[in-house]
Amino acid sequence: MNLRDLKPGRKALIKTVGGEGALRQHLLDMGVIPGVTLEVVKFAPLGDPMEVRIHGYELTLRLADAEKIEIELCEDNSICHQSCHDCPFTKDDHHGSKGKYHGHEHDSFKDDIHDTRSLEHPGLGEGGRFHAKEDGDPLPEGTILTFALVGNQNSGKTTLFNQLTGSNQHVGNFPGVTVDRKDGVIRNHKNTLVTDLPGIYSMSPYSSEELISRNFVINENPHAIINIIDATNIERNLYLTTQLLEMEKPMVVALNMMDEVNENGGAVDINLMERMLGVPVVPISAAKNQGVNELIEHAIHVAYYQEKPLDKDLCDKRDLNGAVHRTLHGVMHLIEDHARRKGLPVRFSASKLLEGDELIEKQLELDENEKNTLDHLIIQMEKESGLDRKAAMADIRFRFIDRLCHHAVTKPAETKEHARSRKIDSVLTGKYSAIPLFILIMATVFFLTFNVIGAWLQGLLEIGVNYLTARVDGLLVSMGTNEIVHGLIVEGIFAGVGSVISFVPIIVTLFFFLSIMEDSGYIARVAFFMDKMLRKIGLSGRSIVPMLIGFGCTVPAVMSTRTLPSERDRRMTILLTPFMSCSAKIPIYAFFVNAFFPDKGWLVMTGLYVLGIVTAILVALLLKNTFFHGEAVPFVMELPNYRMPSAKSVGQLLWSKAKDFLQRAFSVIMIASIVVWLLQSFDLSLNRVTPDHSIMAMIANLLVPLFKPVGLGDWRICTSLISGFMAKESVVSTMEMLFGGPEGVASALSVATVASMLVFSLLYTPCVAAIASIRRELGRRQSILVVIWQCCIAWIFSLITYLIVK
Ligand code: GDP
Ligand code: MG
Repeated sequence: MNLRDLKPGRKALIKTVGGEGALRQHLLDMGVIPGVTLEVVKFAPLGDPMEVRIHGYELTLRLADAEKIEIELCEDNSICHQSCHDCPFTKDDHHGSKGKYHGHEHDSFKDDIHDTRSLEHPGLGEGGRFHAKEDGDPLPEGTILTFALVGNQNSGKTTLFNQLTGSNQHVGNFPGVTVDRKDGVIRNHKNTLVTDLPGIYSMSPYSSEELISRNFVINENPHAIINIIDATNIERNLYLTTQLLEMEKPMVVALNMMDEVNENGGAVDINLMERMLGVPVVPISAAKNQGVNELIEHAIHVAYYQEKPLDKDLCDKRDLNGAVHRTLHGVMHLIEDHARRKGLPVRFSASKLLEGDELIEKQLELDENEKNTLDHLIIQMEKESGLDRKAAMADIRFRFIDRLCHHAVTKPAETKEHARSRKIDSVLTGKYSAIPLFILIMATVFFLTFNVIGAWLQGLLEIGVNYLTARVDGLLVSMGTNEIVHGLIVEGIFAGVGSVISFVPIIVTLFFFLSIMEDSGYIARVAFFMDKMLRKIGLSGRSIVPMLIGFGCTVPAVMSTRTLPSERDRRMTILLTPFMSCSAKIPIYAFFVNAFFPDKGWLVMTGLYVLGIVTAILVALLLKNTFFHGEAVPFVMELPNYRMPSAKSVGQLLWSKAKDFLQRAFSVIMIASIVVWLLQSFDLSLNRVTPDHSIMAMIANLLVPLFKPVGLGDWRICTSLISGFMAKESVVSTMEMLFGGPEGVASALSVATVASMLVFSLLYTPCVAAIASIRRELGRRQSILVVIWQCCIAWIFSLITYLIVK
């Protein structure tokens, strides 16, 4: 029987995990390994993917992938497998109310405790804390201590980073929000530098961000690792910890979200956990800023004294004759010299070789003989253990984690947060309610943004800008300012920047809703139930996030594609995000809608957005059948609990968006406004002329024949479109300037031209900033192609629109 056939609510034991390559490794890394029990939670509303609960967390899986997982039904639908492997006692026997060890002898556990070396660390923290022995002399005074902040996605890294550094990076409740690494100095500790890395689940190079994090730890040699763990999801999070320990780097474990654990009656025996891991463990709550100072103290200590983790062997002490254990140590000896020469940690290299990591294998430069020996060792191990190499390594890690959790962790029956999430999910991802609610939510968001809150704020701001413009105008006139300077300031800068600034409220409002949806964890659900649809056009549910961000701004949208685990999906998503109408185009729509369709505004706006989406779908289908053959990436994603978005986090995001936009308004857009004003005010011999004899008119006139067929064959329109390449917001301001104010535009254009103009603006080349970010992802050649290709598509669709409306 395979997982696909399991009914919701049923539990089963995993027998084998099929499939191959990155997907399989990822499944293993997420804890889907033979011998573990899982439960089907539900199927997505469209029937695919499915949600399963494993190791105490929720995971999404496509049916096609689930098919490859062989299972065995649990008879009475209870746990048919003890989480503590081969343990003679059930979990409940071990634990009392506080989660302390209650005295049952347990061999492996005893060994784990008693074989550690000296435990107490002199002079730091209370007695219970411990550090490994000091490995050497402290680093020289004045060294800048560098720290890597490593942890699973959504474990609170960014929240902690913000607490540590006092900065305000964006926090989100969606796996994979941090895409770029960020550095910061720890508050009140001058000579430190923490780096917030993208969230990773393991040290296998599965997605490009996992590689970033792994390479950072290996190559950039931070003085210490701060491993942040989500204590509410401790098994899955510890998997990465077991791999980080192999890096032989000084390390501290920050056990985050302890507030949630404690509130729900859970407990963690910190001292025991420290002893089993061989590194300091500090319980914290990043969100509530509890325990952070202690964490800093410990982190600085291990970094300063370069305290390596105690040499722990994760293998079960009763299982020293186990095949995996013996092979692992055999391989360690075999490659020790190579690893040392290359500066790679020995145990890490050996584990990776066992897993079949080609990057490491290449780096080690093993001889032919050694490679053969390695192969033989692995074949023998697979034969003896009955598991293949990848599963064997995952298994040994999860066995260790099971032992640790069994003894050191008392889990609450079900956390409040989880129970709440389940209730919310029964509606928001319910079979019949999910998609209608999603459409309703998006429609409400757009309605509130464009018709209610945003529009109202915008009105207020416009009044302010107009007042200021009039005052400055009056002032300049009364001062008898030179006519050119007056023109530059009032017509160039004020008209250009002013018209753009009044759109800040709309952008901020839109981001407000988007960030609430993201912070709460809703967007992860959207990815879950939209997966099947997106797969039809050759993408995976994960691509929904960049797409939705694309409605705000293409730049962060393109950046966020880095969380996609496959190159193919990434490229394809990047090519599609520009079709999601970004908020900088809102000024264009709003202007024309106000002037030409005042009472059908909402309809036209929605129509444009829908047109963008439909075009994207058509383009995606085209790409899928031409350049992007093959299947979308597997959709193996964690569904986090819903959380209340914190006002601080949302506020910070809004402020950063507004700031970003204003900065652009006063830099790129201001320069664009000035350049455009100059070009349209002077001719080639720098004489002040009327716009129709200006340099701009000359340039635009070259384009006029090209734009005639689509109804945009007016040099002033062409000029505006050119300026839109700098920033979309300046299309309107340029038009107003050239046509002599809003009334001028309204009287000069026909409805067909406006319709064509709207469609063209929707689809033509993204702005310079977006192109720059696309270039960073896809390279120069492709980004130029994007510009040309988008213009062509826009031209075709405008032509169709123009012909229809005319
Ligand atoms: P990252 O993906 O690892 O960077 O995680 P984030 O910092 O974006 O946080 C993910 C979610 O966890 C956010 O909704 C945070 O508000 C929440 N969070 C972070 N730390 C804590 C904590 O200590 N307690 C609780 N209850 N929530 C937290
Ligand atoms: Mg983050």
